[in-house]
Amino acid sequence: MYNIDSYGFEKIDNEYFYDGSLGAIYTTQNTIFRVWSPMATNVMLNIYNKCTDTKAQHIFKMEKKEKGVWECIVDGDLKNKYYTYTVCDKSGEEETIDIYAKSAGVNGIKGMIFDSNDTNPDDFYTHDTSHIVGKDKAILYELHVRDFSSDDNANFIYKGKFKAFTEENIKNSFGDEVGLEYIKNLGITHIHLLPVFDYATSDESSVMPKYNWGYDPLNYNVLEGSYSINPYDGLSRIREFKELVMSIHKKGMGVIMDVVYNHTYHGYDSCFSRIFPHYYYRHFGGYYSNGSGCGNEFASERAMARKYIADSLCYFAKEFRLDGFRFDLMGLIDIDTLNYCSEQLKQINPNIILYGEGWTGGDSPLQYHNQAVKSNAIKVPNYSFFSDDFRDFVKGNVFDEKNCGYINGDNEKTFEVVKSLLCGGIYNPNVNRGIEYCWSDDPMQSVNYVEAHDNYTFHDKLRLSMIFADEKEIIQVDKLGAVLVFLSQGLPFIQAGQEFLRSKFDGHSYNHNSYNSPDSINSLKWNNVTKYKELVEYYSGLIKIRKKFYEFRMKTAEEICNKITFNDIKYGAFIMNIDDFSLIINPLAEDIHIDTQKVEVYIDDKKASENPMYTLDNHITVLPKSAMLVKRI
Ligand code: CA
Repeated sequence: MYNIDSYGFEKIDNEYFYDGSLGAIYTTQNTIFRVWSPMATNVMLNIYNKCTDTKAQHIFKMEKKEKGVWECIVDGDLKNKYYTYTVCDKSGEEETIDIYAKSAGVNGIKGMIFDSNDTNPDDFYTHDTSHIVGKDKAILYELHVRDFSSDDNANFIYKGKFKAFTEENIKNSFGDEVGLEYIKNLGITHIHLLPVFDYATSDESSVMPKYNWGYDPLNYNVLEGSYSINPYDGLSRIREFKELVMSIHKKGMGVIMDVVYNHTYHGYDSCFSRIFPHYYYRHFGGYYSNGSGCGNEFASERAMARKYIADSLCYFAKEFRLDGFRFDLMGLIDIDTLNYCSEQLKQINPNIILYGEGWTGGDSPLQYHNQAVKSNAIKVPNYSFFSDDFRDFVKGNVFDEKNCGYINGDNEKTFEVVKSLLCGGIYNPNVNRGIEYCWSDDPMQSVNYVEAHDNYTFHDKLRLSMIFADEKEIIQVDKLGAVLVFLSQGLPFIQAGQEFLRSKFDGHSYNHNSYNSPDSINSLKWNNVTKYKELVEYYSGLIKIRKKFYEFRMKTAEEICNKITFNDIKYGAFIMNIDDFSLIINPLAEDIHIDTQKVEVYIDDKKASENPMYTLDNHITVLPKSAMLVKRI
């Protein structure tokens, strides 16, 4: 227990805020080391020859400079050596990796001194990214590095590694194309990777490190070693991640990085705590508070913590030419910090896509009005938010496996909300949903999804909530859900493999939290691309429709309110009209019949196409649990 008031963080911020460069600043002539630790009584710099050495090759005493910065300039070429700091204060001394380290040796224990030019694939800073679209045209695809290539039914060489993303001509056992080329052909514009920064719980020294999603941050500015070919060489992970980025860019897609600045895996003995005890964390009742549900929460609102997050994001955006960031538990980051970061990031990449989870993992001492939760979305206009409304109203609550939503049985209670969700969650007077439920007036702030890495996959949720359904019916309802995801205003998001009925069935039960489950549960089962070809083509067709017609990705609430109207049919079945388009949605177990003038059909229960598939003259029949998109001609 600590008397936190005695630390006076506000006073520290006022007196010691330092706006310069921190970390190891390398040139061939010398390396400048700079660490901010205003309350330390002494700081030593330890240089190691190899990351596995236990004895330092050199130890230097650092000099206290202005604003609580300790500095040491070491002459000579320290390239590819490793380093740590030993920070001494009243309570003792601790050796630690630098929080500003940009690479590390195995398991992230020692930082690395290196020349970033040595990590660049040819053309890395010149390859063209001008074709990568912005938020208004994005189709997001959430993918774990290891899940991408760990399935034995695909011929990857570099299974589970960054390098698998550079492999071409990947086929499944049926000889069908899978891997990156497949994802591109599906129509995806951005691959959102689960954490690729250095996380704690996979032993990088193991030949087969244990699987983890990676929401257990160890070193924010270092990449995860277990995804590299050589985790003992800190250059390997950087070079190979740059190859990954370039390979995805060359397929015309962007790369979005999942960042977890809300907590660290270690608390009182994290690198942050070792460099400056208590400063980087929020407190409650004398201890680190637990708004993350993971034992601590990062105090983003403190001046040097804010600078840290901004520096970290800018480093990744610039050094790796990233196209966006997804923020874990964004509700724990304060609004001023997020706005400061988006200003900085937009200077690096005006098209950058920023979104996150607008909630926390528990109570936080951060004042509610300053939390980037969904209900404060309007205060962080450059960020979009996962729409848990969309997720839960469309197919049932994620925390109750049997609970149904609009498409799987609960149509009558939910259809007005679903209309609102189709409008991107903005307030539309044509819809019977109160303004108090509409958390943004910018449709692009709504990330629309029914499946992500958390909770049951869409398929598994449908299975559990539709216990009498056969596979044909599950696929039909899956298609209806996909229509809602891709033809709603806002940002469409799917988890990798959702388009081929991704399941986390382990032989006994459906896994809803596979964060450390083996590859056999988590891997993308690439043979299902062939097995569920019709469904994959349906998803691809929906994506093409969205890309082709602006009507399904309008930019403002005003356009949406002006253009979209609804007609109710019965029991929650309805028609959404946009210009000459009518999307007829039938969640019922019976046919719907509508008289019409002549129309072209773009979507029916079997197919979705960006070109009209056939015309109907005076009558439309919409089959049970399906949608039709028609256009008047
Ligand atoms: Ca690691």
